[in-house]
Amino acid sequence: MTCEKCRDLCVRVSIKRPHELRNAIRIAWQNILDNTLSEIINPNPISSVTFAELAKGDPWDDLLSYSFQCTTCGERFHLNAETYHGSGGSWEPENKQSIQESLQACESQCASTPKSCAD
Ligand SMILES: [Zn+2]
Repeated sequence: MTCEKCRDLCVRVSIKRPHELRNAIRIAWQNILDNTLSEIINPNPISSVTFAELAKGDPWDDLLSYSFQCTTCGERFHLNAETYHGSGGSWEPENKQSIQESLQACESQCASTPKSCAD
């Protein structure tokens, strides 16, 4: 279940480095701001930092877990990362069938990763 609006987000992006996490946060935040996504607030958040705080540049907790939903079609996305041991994390749609293709996050040029790596 994907639509035009969230199709670009239906990729699995592995996050291994801090700048990749920062990018993933920024992309999700941009999509919230333009109303493509809304955050699904976890009633028992794993992290004490809200996603809005994170997007503004607050330091992240050792564990991050945020969920989002496409405002048009309802597709859900998860951003998870474990930063303390640096084992990394991922951005991915909840529905594995929605994944368009596997992309490597931020290799050299980032040409294939939509809306990311504008730095
Ligand atoms: Zn959608």
